[in-house]
Amino acid sequence: MNKIFEIPMYAYERSKDQDAITPVRHPVVVIGAGPIGLGVAIDLAQHDVPVVVLDDNDKVSFGSRAICFAKRPLEILDRLGCGAPMVEKGVKWNVGKVFNDEDETYRFDLLEEGGHKNPAFINLQQYYLEEYMVNRLRGLQAEGKPIELRGMNKVDAVGQHDDHVTLEVTTPDGPYVIEADWLIACDGANSATRRMLGLDFEGRVFEDNFLIADVIMEADFPTERWFWFNPPFNRGQSALLHKQPDNVWRIDLQLGWDIDREREMKHENIIPRLHAMLGDDAKFELEWVSIYTFQCRRMEAFRAGRTLFAGDAAHQVSPFGARGANSGLQDTDNLAWKLKLVLDGKVPDALMDTYSVERVYGADENIMNSTRSTDFITPKSEISRTFRDAVLSLAKRHEFARPLVNSGRLSVPCTYDGSSLNGPDTPELPSALRPGSVAADAPTKGGWLLDRLGDSFQLLAIGLDAETGLGACGIEIETIALAADESPELAARYLGGAKGAIYLMRPDQHVAARWTSYDKTAILDALKTATAQGKN
Ligand SMILES: Cc1cc2nc3c(=O)[nH]c(=O)nc-3n(C[C@H](O)[C@H](O)[C@H](O)COP(=O)(O)OP(=O)(O)OC[C@H]3O[C@@H](n4cnc5c(N)ncnc54)[C@H](O)[C@@H]3O)c2cc1C
Repeated sequence: MNKIFEIPMYAYERSKDQDAITPVRHPVVVIGAGPIGLGVAIDLAQHDVPVVVLDDNDKVSFGSRAICFAKRPLEILDRLGCGAPMVEKGVKWNVGKVFNDEDETYRFDLLEEGGHKNPAFINLQQYYLEEYMVNRLRGLQAEGKPIELRGMNKVDAVGQHDDHVTLEVTTPDGPYVIEADWLIACDGANSATRRMLGLDFEGRVFEDNFLIADVIMEADFPTERWFWFNPPFNRGQSALLHKQPDNVWRIDLQLGWDIDREREMKHENIIPRLHAMLGDDAKFELEWVSIYTFQCRRMEAFRAGRTLFAGDAAHQVSPFGARGANSGLQDTDNLAWKLKLVLDGKVPDALMDTYSVERVYGADENIMNSTRSTDFITPKSEISRTFRDAVLSLAKRHEFARPLVNSGRLSVPCTYDGSSLNGPDTPELPSALRPGSVAADAPTKGGWLLDRLGDSFQLLAIGLDAETGLGACGIEIETIALAADESPELAARYLGGAKGAIYLMRPDQHVAARWTSYDKTAILDALKTATAQGKN
């Protein structure tokens, strides 16, 4: 059995701050070394922003929590230097099957089109992701980047001031105080920071229980996502089966609301449930079992003065659709470049308000999708159940009913439609890449497009001439010149029928603005808009 979560990855070490006479001020302190805290810290360190991460533990997550990682977070993790080991270790899958009772209702393929570096999804235990992130952090330290991870440092109190935040931290050597120009709270669903600052967290709690079992077994099921409505081995409920690396299989069995949790968690009750699903002769070992309920909720705003909230601390969704860690990484992607510009004094701190606005918009989209899946899987009334069952039986024979089946619409990145950072658009270009949307990958002669993007503002000049060395207010724009016929995927995704296009890309690889001809003044205006400085 894998014991990775028993090894201290960032054992406690006394820091100089604990011996300082007056509290030491850091530009950024992050609370929490989960995937989101580590992600934002790595991103900031890559931008040369000094960052200290505090965690009350010294190990990666216990048990396997997240397992499904979608294409967009893999692209973000690529930019953070952790994507390659994930894709190498993870189980790649595109195909999902939905069963109703014993019948296969239909199958779907998440990524039918080629021309993307990353797969639609991989399955990988969260503890591996966290291990790769800690390794990456160590690699950055070895390169001399300003990043520190302090294990067994529990934040007990947070005080907000106009221009900084004060943190009281408890360690095995006793308490100390530090200060931060900016605090990023990534302290998870039960965020103590949220509570300490007296902030709200509103939404729905779903009345249901799910038994999660990660079992180790040799099995020759295909690497597909299998979801059952009302299967013979879990009547009236749902079930999910997913393969992870190391011959670990994630089994998710819906139990209903009115259960005796203690009884359900007993080994002698779990094993027969698993045999009913896997067969009487199945040989398996349990790696991890838990029962969970869930909420769909978010904070009203993800910024409170000099404190920014990200990941589960800011929002929670049901696991259907794999939106927790996946959307948290999209928070960090949005946050890091903005904070870098604010800390460098290049833009007003109002840019951080747009972090909250854009990611609240993303969280609402996730909560809506997650709530819809949950309502379909667990109908709340007899009429909803009748509708659900009718859809399931029609879907087997009729194509039109399939889009109505919702066993967890899988995580896709949010397009920031209506964001104040969006600049001009033109209807001649494909609407999928309108301002606010995330760049689509495509092969280019210089390698995958997304490997060439990111970390700074960039101008994609496709089939059109553009100047190099553009910039304003100390913010530089790097120009990437591409031929219109560089690859059919690039032409289809970025040009549609147009002969050429200019795309201004944000450092988080979202489209800021685009045109079908080169106009320097318009580009510089769009740069100001994209950094919350208005036009001229
Ligand atoms: C059963 C299950 C299945 C899931 N499946 C998926 C999936 O397939 N895909 C997906 O994307 N998501 C999934 N998720 C969600 C995913 O696990 C979370 O969204 C993710 O862990 C959130 O990361 P985080 O960094 O925000 O918080 P956490 O991972 O909770 O990390 C918070 C960190 O803060 C530390 N901390 C807390 N308080 C303090 C303090 N006072 N001082 C110092 N440190 C502190 C904690 O020790 C912890 O290390 C699943 C979750 C569950 C439970």
